[in-house]
Amino acid sequence: MEMMVIRTSALFLAASLVLSACGQAEKNSPAPSGAESENNTAPNETNQAPSSDKENKDSSDALDPSDTSNKTSTEPERSEDTGKEKDNSDNTQAEETPAAPQYYMNKVYNIVPNDEAAEKKIVLLTFDDGPKDEKMINGLIDTLDKHKAKAIFFVNGYRVKQNPELLKLIHERGQIIGNHSWDHIDLKKESKATAKKQIEDVQKIVMDTIGEKPKFFRPPFGSGGDYVKQVVSENNMLFMTWSNGSLDWESQSRNNPEAVINNVMEQLHPGSNILMHELPWTVEALDTLLTKLEKKGYSFVDPQNIELKTK
Ligand SMILES: [Zn+2]
Repeated sequence: MEMMVIRTSALFLAASLVLSACGQAEKNSPAPSGAESENNTAPNETNQAPSSDKENKDSSDALDPSDTSNKTSTEPERSEDTGKEKDNSDNTQAEETPAAPQYYMNKVYNIVPNDEAAEKKIVLLTFDDGPKDEKMINGLIDTLDKHKAKAIFFVNGYRVKQNPELLKLIHERGQIIGNHSWDHIDLKKESKATAKKQIEDVQKIVMDTIGEKPKFFRPPFGSGGDYVKQVVSENNMLFMTWSNGSLDWESQSRNNPEAVINNVMEQLHPGSNILMHELPWTVEALDTLLTKLEKKGYSFVDPQNIELKTK
């Protein structure tokens, strides 16, 4: 019990650091178009439903308008809110869960063993906002392969449409595809119909491209909300933000792999759900980062070994 309290406090501290750092993200950072700059994603506020938290929404560090610059003409058309069409939000996908996954994701997006005997010192590796560039993707996956690691690549639909061959590349090299919405917009600010389309169009294009649908969903900016969570559940995906932000999207990290490594190591805790992006300095940082994690006794959880239901 005390351990829990201590860990929770430590997490809160870490999250506060992430938050304060994230607050100024993007403004000074032109590059990572889709970076999760928002501060409405405090991993530790999950119990208060971070994505529907008004306080967060009112933050002065609202979305950087430039972040939508990547939107393409493929943005789903808006239509009247059709409301709930299905009502099975609690009916998550036991059937599609791989046989007896050893891990699950808790309410603060950490990965936790189901079985006491399983290794606790694990991290989940994730890369958002692709697929953009073959060289970067191969660079990331070469390093993942070297460390026998699997990661989730959270992709945007408009990028998949632009680069379907890159989605195939990620999949064929054995890495896991996640859904990061079509346009990388703040889904909480959209109508239900638009939010649903943003999510489901990605399921479709990924299915059409690689023959299977994503099982993981991460909302842009960590901004989801109850309706988004419902749609994600209806689509048999596990909703997550993150619990260890590499801050690779921040200006301080630009061309600075060392900063990316340090940011992750400073927030490191068992079960860390590490948010990174498909960015050159992250590609450059990855081998050293994974080596450092291994030296600290950490290994890399296979996303396919995580239950698709939060506990
Ligand atoms: Zn993103």
